[in-house]
Amino acid sequence: MIPFNKPYLTGNELEYINQAHTQGHLSGDGNFTKKCHHWLEKQLGSPKALLTHSCTGALEMAAILADIQPGDEVIMPSYTFVSTANAFAIRGGVPVFVDIRPDTLNIDEMKIEAAITDKTKAIVPVHYAGVSCEMDTIMEIADKYGLLVIEDAAQAIGSTYKDKPLGSIGHLGTLSFHETKNIISGEGGALLINDIAMCDRAEIIREKGTNRKQFFQGKTDKYTWVDFGSSYLPSEIVAAFLWAQMESADTITKRRIDIWNSYHAAFEDLEGKGKVRRPIIPEYCDHNAHMYYLLLPNLKTRSKLITSLESNNIHAVFHYIPLHSSPMGKKLSRSLCDLPITDNLSERIIRLPLWLGLEKELPSVINKISDAIIQL
Ligand SMILES: *Cc1c(COP(=O)(O)O)cnc(C)c1O
Repeated sequence: MIPFNKPYLTGNELEYINQAHTQGHLSGDGNFTKKCHHWLEKQLGSPKALLTHSCTGALEMAAILADIQPGDEVIMPSYTFVSTANAFAIRGGVPVFVDIRPDTLNIDEMKIEAAITDKTKAIVPVHYAGVSCEMDTIMEIADKYGLLVIEDAAQAIGSTYKDKPLGSIGHLGTLSFHETKNIISGEGGALLINDIAMCDRAEIIREKGTNRKQFFQGKTDKYTWVDFGSSYLPSEIVAAFLWAQMESADTITKRRIDIWNSYHAAFEDLEGKGKVRRPIIPEYCDHNAHMYYLLLPNLKTRSKLITSLESNNIHAVFHYIPLHSSPMGKKLSRSLCDLPITDNLSERIIRLPLWLGLEKELPSVINKISDAIIQL
């Protein structure tokens, strides 16, 4: 069976975990965490990066930093992972869903302004498949109405918008290092703080609401409870694993792009024949090949293709059940209006296997997928 995903190991992970063990510092914020922070700050040009135990945790920190109160509204796409909404909903925030663009499947920036009310606190653009949202427009709208922008860049490490790294453009950005993402540590994530006014508070929230960091820096003589918070930091064991991945980030991205490009070239003819639609990458975006997907004509052909690939030993998957159609979404959120593009595209998308090591079998995988599509 060709799996949909296979975690890639650089080969240095265990050696670095061993070093962390030898150094005798296993809780958070040791040497490996610091290396990861510096790497992220340098690569992304963010003033401050903080590792978290997940992107979900980073989004929860962002909701606390944004001071989300019950009834506050947060604008986001419905076509996204549950954590984009849940992180705000658990603070009483109301997700307000806006439809997506048919080309990138990202939030339609032209529909955001109509969703703003006097309760709106933040906009959360999700860079789907590592392809950027139209950030200039989104930042202009946020400026005009005094809103925070929190980029859900879970899938977008290494991608850029007009040469600016994703996650570094909004006031806050979040990354994921879950094993299904490009750079991994099993579970893991990071919060990028681009508005330096929020840096000190972010450190406190991450340290269970204490001023531990300032205390160890000698900036205060007491170590105590000063704010909301939780335990958001990963252990050094996780950071050591992640450091091995960060060292190889360029190679990982390059190899993923090669696989993505092979798929893209192979399906050009089928697109010409109207059998599939391939991903569209706007010229303002350099993407990280997080995902290769195709859009089928309808739900029926999508289901048929998944079954047909399954019988050819290829595991292809779909996502998301749009959040506005989910039980919790129906209860806790509102939508500006119907979301026809979200409803339509979420039924037609199929995601193909894309992982390092697939290269050898890729030609045969592509042949089988092409044959299955022709026979639909
Ligand atoms: C993966 C993902 C998340 C959650 O990441 P975790 O690290 O698993 O918490 C959030 N948002 C999007 C868009 C994602 O793809």
